[in-house]
Amino acid sequence: MSDKFDVIVIGAGPAGYVAAIRAAQLGLKTACVDAFVGKDGKQALGGTCLNVGCIPSKALLDSSKQYFNLAHNLPAHGISVENAKVDMATFIGRKDKIVKQFTGGIGQLFKANKVTPFFGKGKLLKGNNVEITGNDGSKQTISATNVILASGSVPIELPFAKFDGKYIIDNAGALDINEVPKRLGVIGAGVIGLELGSVWNRLGAEVTILEALPDFLAVADQDVAKIAKKEFEKQGLAIKLGAKLTKAEVKKNEVALTYEDKDGAHELTVDKLLVAVGRRAYTDGLLAGDTGVKLDERGRIVVDEHNHTGVDGVWAIGDAVRGPMLAHKGSEEGVAVAEWIAGKAGHINLDTVPWVIYTEPEIAWAGKTEKELKDAGIPYKIGTFPFAAIGRAVAMNEAIGQVKVLAHAETDRLLGVHMVGPGVSELIAEAVVAMEFKGSAEDLARIVHAHPTLSEAVHEAALSVDKRAIHKGN
Ligand code: FAD
Ligand code: AMP
Repeated sequence: MSDKFDVIVIGAGPAGYVAAIRAAQLGLKTACVDAFVGKDGKQALGGTCLNVGCIPSKALLDSSKQYFNLAHNLPAHGISVENAKVDMATFIGRKDKIVKQFTGGIGQLFKANKVTPFFGKGKLLKGNNVEITGNDGSKQTISATNVILASGSVPIELPFAKFDGKYIIDNAGALDINEVPKRLGVIGAGVIGLELGSVWNRLGAEVTILEALPDFLAVADQDVAKIAKKEFEKQGLAIKLGAKLTKAEVKKNEVALTYEDKDGAHELTVDKLLVAVGRRAYTDGLLAGDTGVKLDERGRIVVDEHNHTGVDGVWAIGDAVRGPMLAHKGSEEGVAVAEWIAGKAGHINLDTVPWVIYTEPEIAWAGKTEKELKDAGIPYKIGTFPFAAIGRAVAMNEAIGQVKVLAHAETDRLLGVHMVGPGVSELIAEAVVAMEFKGSAEDLARIVHAHPTLSEAVHEAALSVDKRAIHKGN
């Protein structure tokens, strides 16, 4: 086979593998280079998301939720079992099987679409050549008219709490604990810290989350964050805000932590420490010195609104560039770039990328928060509706949380939709569609929603924007 391609993608995460498949669908001769090594020592396509991110975390969140429900929520339905227990080998093994199914699935999709996979570390050289270094040190160079950089991200390491894979762990480590730790410390109350902290809390670990910022979930709408925090604390998560970790020392089989808050320095001892203080774009060894591709002050590859780097035929997508570090954001950029390369009209709108946190209750939003609207001086109206007044949520015994709709005060255009409650990871899709089509609160209010469903909360919140919700006082 010739080593000249139309498109080479470096990285086979949700940004890169999707870009490669879409490019191949459009008739472009496509290669995809990825270095990720799976638990079995072989190439594992799918990047962070499929191997150590979205998919395995959701597998463990679901297993731990089943256990937690059995022990704590089913008695309210009149159902109980004695001595419910978790078999850790099955718990972790089920997750591994799911990961294998999906990473293997990417290989099959590559075959079906005639994408050529390469296993090794790719380095962009001048002139759109890519040097691939295999695990055995062997080197080969391939070239293409277009190269898409999709090298993703890696966890940020704190210099005073370096990952050792045993006591001080990152996301990959927290997805592979084979015994429930008695005390788990989590640094960072972001999406990853909350999701993985929840998994181990549900299985009985005493989980303490230290968050340096004074506000809980500062990126989310603060009404939603307040409801969520109260529920998480009821579940037993100890969340300390304004608490900055300053020292972590492994001593015998424990980790001794020092953190500082407004009252001074405190000590905390845990059995394991998950450091989840964010992720950084990963570009180590990706670029030869003379390619002309630029990095910004946070180490992200600089791109324009079309994900073009400014270097002829070189594009970048996913966690390695600006914008939210979310799988679906990278995938949509991948599709758009493949279409732009093929001369088609690609489309990506970062303003309507949905965010989801898969805790219990779930948190989901799209668009602007109330604070963002206030800061920008945009006049808005608010409509809210609680799940406590939704028949389906009460029947499920999960009547927690609310939907909040923010619409422009004059035009009624939807500006933001914020949810906390049961199944909101799915409900947010309706808001995204409405916002993408530049819909108004009135549009959502006039659409028929099935009864009894959780989606009625979206309908009623939209009605409530103009004080005409039916099932609550306005
Ligand atoms: P990545 O998935 O990081 O993939 C990049 C790939 O490129 C990797 O396989 C890497 O090995 C490879 N690579 C890098 N450099 C080179 C090179 N030079 N040569 C060859 N290969 C290279 N997002 C969601 O949307 N929903 C979720 O529920 C969610 N849950 C998450 C849970 C956890 C615990 C974590 C850590 C992340 C989660 N994310 C979630 C974020 C999501 O995983 C990322 O946004 C997504 O994986 C980014 O995709 P990407 O393709 O840009 O990069
Ligand atoms: P995210 O970027 O969503 O993954 O969230 C990471 C969180 O970790 C942010 O809210 C940070 O404020 C928090 N964080 C960063 N460094 C520290 C630290 N040393 N101690 C406690 N929290 C931290």
